Amino acid sequence: MSSHHTYEHKTYPVKAEIAQNAHINNEQYLALYQQSIEHPETFWAEQAETILDWQKPWEKVMDYDYTQGKISWFEGGKLNVSVNCLDRHLATRGEQMALLWEGDDPAQDKKMTYRELYQEVCQFANVLKAQGVKKGDRVCIYLPMIIEAAAIILACTRIGAVHSIVFGGFSAEALKDRINDSDCKLVVCADEGYRGGKIIPIKATVDKAIASCPCVQSVIVIKNTANPVAWNAERDVWYQQAMAEAAITCEPEWMDAEEPLFILYTSGSTGKPKGLLHTTGGYLLYAAMTHKYIFDYQDGEIYWCTADIGWITGHTYMIYGPLCNGATTLLFEGVPTYPDASRFWQVVDKHKVNIMYTAPTALRALMAQGDQYLENTDRSSLRVLGSVGEPINPEAWEWYYQQVGKENCPIVDTWWQTETGGILITPLPGATELKPSSATRPFFGVKPAILSNEGQVIDDGSEGVLVLERPWPGQARSIYGDHQRFIDTYFKSYPGYYFTGDGARCDERGYYWITGRVDDVINVSGHRMGTAEVESALDEHPLIAESAVVGYPHDIKGQGIYAFVTLHIGIEGNDALRKELVDLVRADIGPIASPDLIQWAQQLPKTRSGKIMRRILRKVAANEIDSLGDTSTLADPEVVEDIIKNRLNK
Ligand code: ATP
Ligand code: MG
Repeated sequence: MSSHHTYEHKTYPVKAEIAQNAHINNEQYLALYQQSIEHPETFWAEQAETILDWQKPWEKVMDYDYTQGKISWFEGGKLNVSVNCLDRHLATRGEQMALLWEGDDPAQDKKMTYRELYQEVCQFANVLKAQGVKKGDRVCIYLPMIIEAAAIILACTRIGAVHSIVFGGFSAEALKDRINDSDCKLVVCADEGYRGGKIIPIKATVDKAIASCPCVQSVIVIKNTANPVAWNAERDVWYQQAMAEAAITCEPEWMDAEEPLFILYTSGSTGKPKGLLHTTGGYLLYAAMTHKYIFDYQDGEIYWCTADIGWITGHTYMIYGPLCNGATTLLFEGVPTYPDASRFWQVVDKHKVNIMYTAPTALRALMAQGDQYLENTDRSSLRVLGSVGEPINPEAWEWYYQQVGKENCPIVDTWWQTETGGILITPLPGATELKPSSATRPFFGVKPAILSNEGQVIDDGSEGVLVLERPWPGQARSIYGDHQRFIDTYFKSYPGYYFTGDGARCDERGYYWITGRVDDVINVSGHRMGTAEVESALDEHPLIAESAVVGYPHDIKGQGIYAFVTLHIGIEGNDALRKELVDLVRADIGPIASPDLIQWAQQLPKTRSGKIMRRILRKVAANEIDSLGDTSTLADPEVVEDIIKNRLNK
């Protein structure tokens, strides 16, 4: 929409002390970006040689045909992911910590050096082999955030097995669908997990799911809580027992760069989950390179990504990128609000975290609890902060910057998707002047464009559809078992481009502003607008914790704007507050964007990864409550019942 928001004029210059020692400063960014676009093959070949160890060089850097959904990088080259993440570090960093682990219970923590992790990976790779898992077989990983997760993931890569990690909070039904969709031969799980002070059943859920999964031959179970669980001796194997018997070396399987690495189902904000397939060489290169440059990771630093291994962020920026770079990466089992809302900051202080990467949903939840939770922590180890998952509203951005980082830490607002494998649009800490709520500029080799619905290039700064002009190494190669769906979803609507499904605009200095999902766009009297800017305006109000806006049928305007608003803890909504909110949006964006209906909501419906599910709110707003669609990925169904009960359009 418009460009007269007050926050848009705010800029935060690059900090000299960060730019000085950063991997990339602004001149370097500009020069390298230009090279990456003008001579992509040279650029990527150089990066691939520097960043990864190859057993055999590739024959062709890149090849693609978007009409067929065909993308390949470094074809003919051979490498092994676990060798790049472990073996090659042993000589120089064998005794350095690879993993730090912080339990749900603040009294629990663990550590593992590169050498220890290497040994555990080799052992578990031998366990997998003993269970009959071969190169190309699919292994489902359904785990809480325990330290063993990293070794299990890398053990799959050691023998060329393809992992499919399913978030440990998904139901038996959702797990069953995912196991069957990718025909997994084996499941790795735990007896139970801990989360927010509660015990989460894991093995019991697996038992229920695989009752209808004929493909599963065995289940490896990690003893975690050690409470008794049901046991099927024909099928179930204790991890600890199998490991004790396993040899401690395992020759790596050399994989072609284009052979599959993993399958991951998207989080399901918009509908039926898709099993995105990522391959070996390009993905690992892109993961490592983006992790190094975007977080400006420096040797010896402690890096913490708060995501769960079940999401792409947990894959790329908790495991593969950091370990490939020889970093120390922290895994956190718990939640931001347990034992209380100071937990994140306690963890930062305890482990002296230098780089922290989290999601707007967590930041907004913590903000709503009040600043007193920051007070007893110092957070002076922090150097760089990151955000991912949804557009970050300026209010949350400022809080992260001012309160959490005490104005010392650049924020990288990273835009990307499960499909993209790694970050595509983002600031670089030593190079990019920041604007709250803008993901700023494309990463190396990434060429975005904004198109109209008709496919015309938009270059006047107005809002349109975000597409990408050419492949990058981390891009997904297919949807597992349904390549046609891959073509139809991403390459049909705008021929010659990869379609992201997100809306965006690009301002006069080339900064990108993600405006929300295209499916969520609202059309009021012919004016199209994304959800992010209206929500950001509402969120500016000091009593508002979070909001979601959707369009609903309106006799005169075509669509009206329906806002669902969550207030800070302890605040009650009333008509005076409604009016203040309408005035705020009018002043900020214009009368066209002012909400017609405002409903107070205890909570907003979210996916298990914490993203607002506007498609469900759209149904509620239209009073179509009998056809909510697929709700299997919803975190908490009760939230929806509450919203339906209090709906304003009946
Ligand atoms: P599904 O595709 O199944 O509906 P999903 O899109 O939520 O699920 P992900 O791949 O985890 O699954 O999320 C990617 C989406 O998250 C992006 O397309 C975008 O809408 C949003 N997103 C991620 N990071 C950012 C960001 N920094 N700014 C704005 N939006 C973001
Ligand atoms: Mg998506």
